[in-house]
Amino acid sequence: MDPEFPPFLMTLLAVWLFILGLCVGSFLNVVVARVPHGQSIVKPRSRCPKCGHTLSWYENIPLLSWLALRGRCRGCKSPISIRYPLVELLTGLLFLACLRRFDWSWELVAALVLITLLVPLTFIDLEHWILPFSLTVPGIIAGVALAVPRGMEALRDAAIGAAVGFLAFRLMEYLGWKLFRKEALGGGDKFLVAMLGAFLTWKALLGILFLSSLQGAVVGVLLIALTGRAGPRTEVPESEEPEKEAPEPELTMTWEFTKPGLPLWRRLVLVPWCLLFQPIPDEPKDEAGEEIDWVPGTTNIPFGPWLALAGLEILLLAPWLSRVLPPQLALLLGGLP
Ligand SMILES: [Zn+2]
Repeated sequence: MDPEFPPFLMTLLAVWLFILGLCVGSFLNVVVARVPHGQSIVKPRSRCPKCGHTLSWYENIPLLSWLALRGRCRGCKSPISIRYPLVELLTGLLFLACLRRFDWSWELVAALVLITLLVPLTFIDLEHWILPFSLTVPGIIAGVALAVPRGMEALRDAAIGAAVGFLAFRLMEYLGWKLFRKEALGGGDKFLVAMLGAFLTWKALLGILFLSSLQGAVVGVLLIALTGRAGPRTEVPESEEPEKEAPEPELTMTWEFTKPGLPLWRRLVLVPWCLLFQPIPDEPKDEAGEEIDWVPGTTNIPFGPWLALAGLEILLLAPWLSRVLPPQLALLLGGLP
């Protein structure tokens, strides 16, 4: 931005961006709470999940309301998760970090949109072990579209980033199954990588793979040593007896297009669809043909948060990383700027 701008005005704009981040974070709390259950993020107004008390505007102010209410619902006094103010503060601080890195530029806009996608994806994956397509797919489109104002070269790099990221993780998904007969990656991970590739271009993909696996492995091993499991537990519905362990469902893998009795044209249509999108392995089914809910084992980690963290590190710290890392490693991390 114009260097002639008086410093106090720049500070004022930074404060405004921080407050904007808090408000976006407040909205992201709604996304985290509702999107995994397929609920609307617009209606109804926010209410207490325990007693249904509808929040008035002054109970909905980011950060301040939680502090003023001392983390309790005004209606029923049941505790409000610390996640709410945390997500708000985190989003506000990440917005400021983006401003510091990119100043007032087109890159800043793209970075803020990326933050707005990564924060809810991280918290949803931590709680539900899913990365909803309703966030990742629009995210891929947004990443490519936001490269347009920066010229043809940026647009090409973003499109290649999305495609290569998706295909590389799709291949790893398949090879993981071939080699270990286990579901090595969640099906949603490749869409998140494609999204990161769109925003950060193909140059960042190796670095994302390297940083996410390294940090995920180190923290996962530490968590197993300390708590006995690498990832968070999923909520077990109250009706289910926790002692009665369900037998591990048999995992199989049959390409849809190889099934007997299909007309040739359907087979041909199915081939590209299967290669790109069919779940690997097949969704486990019980005798009645209903899908069995997957329960994470003790050594499973949700990979989405680690991918998101690696993406954030490259987004915000790339110039610093390229200074402190040995040049060969910095080059491996995608020719950091
Ligand atoms: Zn309540």
